[in-house]
Amino acid sequence: MVCVGSLKGKLISQAQEVSRLRPELGGTDLEKHRDLLMVENERLRQEMRRCEAELQELRAKPVAAPCTGCEHSQESAQLRDRLSQLQLEVAENKSMLSELNLEVQQKTDRLAEVELRLKDCLAEKAQEEERLSRRLRDSHETIASLRAQSPPIKYVIKTVEVESSKTKQALSESQTQNQHLQEQVAMQRQVLKEMEQQLQSSHQLTSQLRAQIAMYESELERAHGQMLEEMQSLEEDKNRAIEEAFARAQVEMKAVHENLAGVRTNLLTLQPALRTLTNDYNGLKRQVRGFPLLLQEALKSVKAEIGQAIEEVNNNNQELLRKYRRELQLRKKCHNELVRLKGNIRVIARVRPVTKEDGEGPEAINAVTFDPDDDSIIHLVHKGKPVSFELDKVFSPRASQQDVFQEVQALITSCIDGFNVCIFAYGQTGAGKTYTMEGTPENPGINQRALQLLFSEVQEKASDWEYTISVSAAEIYNEALRDLLGQEPQEKLEIRLCPDGSGQLYVPGLTEFQVQSVEDINKVFEFGHTNRTTEFTNLNEHSSRSHALLIVTVRGVDCSTGLRTTGKLNLVDLAGSERVGKSGAEGSRLREAQHINKSLSALGDVIAALRSRQGHVPFRNSKLTYLLQDSLSGDSKTLMVVQVSPVEKNTSETLYSLKFAERVRSVELGPGSRRAELGSWSSQEHLEWEPACQMPQPSARAHSAPGSGTSSRPGSIRRRLQPSA
Ligand code: ADP
Ligand code: MG
Repeated sequence: MVCVGSLKGKLISQAQEVSRLRPELGGTDLEKHRDLLMVENERLRQEMRRCEAELQELRAKPVAAPCTGCEHSQESAQLRDRLSQLQLEVAENKSMLSELNLEVQQKTDRLAEVELRLKDCLAEKAQEEERLSRRLRDSHETIASLRAQSPPIKYVIKTVEVESSKTKQALSESQTQNQHLQEQVAMQRQVLKEMEQQLQSSHQLTSQLRAQIAMYESELERAHGQMLEEMQSLEEDKNRAIEEAFARAQVEMKAVHENLAGVRTNLLTLQPALRTLTNDYNGLKRQVRGFPLLLQEALKSVKAEIGQAIEEVNNNNQELLRKYRRELQLRKKCHNELVRLKGNIRVIARVRPVTKEDGEGPEAINAVTFDPDDDSIIHLVHKGKPVSFELDKVFSPRASQQDVFQEVQALITSCIDGFNVCIFAYGQTGAGKTYTMEGTPENPGINQRALQLLFSEVQEKASDWEYTISVSAAEIYNEALRDLLGQEPQEKLEIRLCPDGSGQLYVPGLTEFQVQSVEDINKVFEFGHTNRTTEFTNLNEHSSRSHALLIVTVRGVDCSTGLRTTGKLNLVDLAGSERVGKSGAEGSRLREAQHINKSLSALGDVIAALRSRQGHVPFRNSKLTYLLQDSLSGDSKTLMVVQVSPVEKNTSETLYSLKFAERVRSVELGPGSRRAELGSWSSQEHLEWEPACQMPQPSARAHSAPGSGTSSRPGSIRRRLQPSA
């Protein structure tokens, strides 16, 4: 009995235990958790949907008036970027959330499985209990029936006892089963604990996500706020602009109204003016109708007046032309007189500076000085004795090419008026003859400056005169004349008398180039120079022993009268005047010296004869004087530039040159002294010669006869220079 009672008690306690375990097992708790999670999930999902909707709304909102480049648009672009970033993050979070949801789902499934198993276990337990209580009830009934039947009770007790051992066995079995179930419950608890932990972590994750979402929301809200502000400011701007435009329009409108009023009043005042204008116009119209007649009359009278005026002007012109011609004649006369007063033959000296070539030491010291008050005096110290000379002009070493040219300028321009001019450079070799005549490319001498002057003068007169300028270049060496511009420079040329009986001379075959510009002249000079250099190996030496002539012919026609003039300018760089020692020189050098001597003496004689106005001038005594006969005789003009070296070692030659110069100049002093001078002159070395046969004085100047002179030289080669450019 006791045994049954204890079994009963045990059973009850076990049932109690089971019922206690049931809530502990947490079936309902898990369910609660799951429900909570589900609710949470659902809430999050709703929140997400709201966010999306808001986003969509923001995206759909029209972008406020596009104001490209403004600060707002930049900001809104930034916000848009930030928004897209946030969207990306939201999408990431969404995927994370869905993963978590999946996990929660899996866990919920597993929980449901565990619960199912637990339910099975509990059902089994209930069945077992049921079975056990049924058996206990049966046993109790059996015991009661056995008590009613007393004798067999002992037997029944015995059977019960036997049966009780069976029950014991069943109890132990149920105990082990119970044990097993408890173990399972512990295991389930463990699983539950893990799941709780997982749930906890998922809770944390969810709260993190929620915080992030909250952050994004605040960000969104801020962006939204900014956008609103921006829109508001834009709206305000727009309103302001509209207001301003409106105000402006109102002001303008007012002005227009005022203008309109003014115009209206103007119109009112203009109407009477228009009326008077119309009247005037009608009056004018009437007048115009009668105008042609009036005009015809006026024209007739004006024509008559003009005709009269033209006649008067013509008369005046004729008078002026007459006066002009008279003036021209007078000018020519005056010029002639001036040159005559200066002397048709003038002698000047030019002293070159001391150069490096003069060397150093006592031989190179300066022996020439000048008079500071008189530019026609030159002093020389020769062998310790001072000697002075008076010439027409003396140029010191300081004189420039331009200074010297200034002195000869008047001579050159007289060539345009039809005079013949000769300019000679005389002096020992190295005294500066070539420098004075040719000069250097940077500092040209008389030759180039003369041609330039001729060009400019001719151009100035171009309205009344037509001029042509042509040049020839020749050389006289050992009394042979050569053409420096010809194709065969070595060919000897002859000087001939014109067959027309005019008594004029010409050189058949002498080349003449017509020049029109400085470039042409330079080409001619270059050509002559090349001819000379190819001909002679030592040009310097050769040129010092030959006379170089540049002959410029200026021919002019007066456009109004047809009057023709021809003037010739002869520029001569003479051979060196130095005397060759009689003992030292022989052969060709002696011959050269003799020729130079002869021609320079002849030049001196001719000039002397001209200046002393002798009846006979010995032109024929040398090629040079013979060639220049036309240009030396008559009212031609001659200038002798005596070149002088200033240094001590050349004083003897300098003395000789200056004596020559002074004598040439002093020839004109008077008929009595003329002879005396000539007498002393012929004692000089290069004047020792016998006068040649008498020559008739040339009758007329070449220029005075139209078509005569050099322009009509038969047989002379004449070419027009073709500028290569
Ligand atoms: P020439 O022709 O009489 O033999 P150059 O004209 O050849 O003499 O002159 C001899 C040297 O003296 C040249 O080097 C020349 O440049 C120089 N010379 C001559 N006169 C002058 C001057 N007035 N100024 C500067 N140098 C000069
Ligand atoms: Mg020279």
